[in-house]
Amino acid sequence: MDEILNEWIQLRIAFFLGIFLLIALCEFFFPKRAKANVPQKTRWISNLSIVIIDNFFMRLILPLFAIEMAFLAENWKWGIFNRYEIPYALNLILTIIILDLIIYLQHVMFHVVPFFWRAHRMHHADLDFDVTTGIRFHPIEVIISMGIKIGVVALIGATPIGVLIFEILLNATSMFTHSNLNLPISVDRVLRSIIVTPDMHRVHHSIKEHETNRNFGFSFSIWDRLFGTYLNQPSEGHLKMTIGIKDFRHPKYLRLDWLLLIPFIGKITNYTRKNREKKE
Ligand SMILES: [Zn+2]
Ligand SMILES: [Zn+2]
Repeated sequence: MDEILNEWIQLRIAFFLGIFLLIALCEFFFPKRAKANVPQKTRWISNLSIVIIDNFFMRLILPLFAIEMAFLAENWKWGIFNRYEIPYALNLILTIIILDLIIYLQHVMFHVVPFFWRAHRMHHADLDFDVTTGIRFHPIEVIISMGIKIGVVALIGATPIGVLIFEILLNATSMFTHSNLNLPISVDRVLRSIIVTPDMHRVHHSIKEHETNRNFGFSFSIWDRLFGTYLNQPSEGHLKMTIGIKDFRHPKYLRLDWLLLIPFIGKITNYTRKNREKKE
């Protein structure tokens, strides 16, 4: 198992680097929005460094990752799919669909519950929107997210390859949906009927609360339509809209040390459902 696992980890890193480079090049040559007037070098260094820090903390705190749990579940016949031995292809497809739904629900939870919003708002505090925003998540958030995935994998008995494909897909779609890529509107419309596009997810990074609390999906666009959280376009348009959240507008918050501190700073004054209801 260790050998396969090592190979898979290398595969995951290779996909990450390859897709990151491809999207970074595409958005450089075909940008949608002009770069925001913020220190871009600081942004990139911080957003890329956080990936290494996330992985360090995950290895330090968690005893295993979701893929390892899938192997254990398979060996010990844990979970629904392992118990009832459903066809392999069906297990694979259901694993990817169910995990994507869980990530959607988890994302909603990170916006609704103030404690979770503290960690998740670090992702939203980015003052620009490009491929590096898609990998910028606080260690607290990635550890909670991995914990949830481990639980779901054990519960459903997800196949290890399904989990591997899902992890690669989630990483790839996160970088794609945050990219500053100028996709033609017609292409966006066709893609959006199945997957989340950069224009669809950019709405979620609007400074306006009612737009931030829309378009929670990561890979498939169906969940937002199904649960009524879909918003087509930002009210000010993609080129004029302001990216980020109200409390963290100072460029110092783009620095790595401040990124890590964001969950612990100040009171929660807006964006969570609790506060929204109070205002409405
Ligand atoms: Zn969010
Ligand atoms: Zn995002």
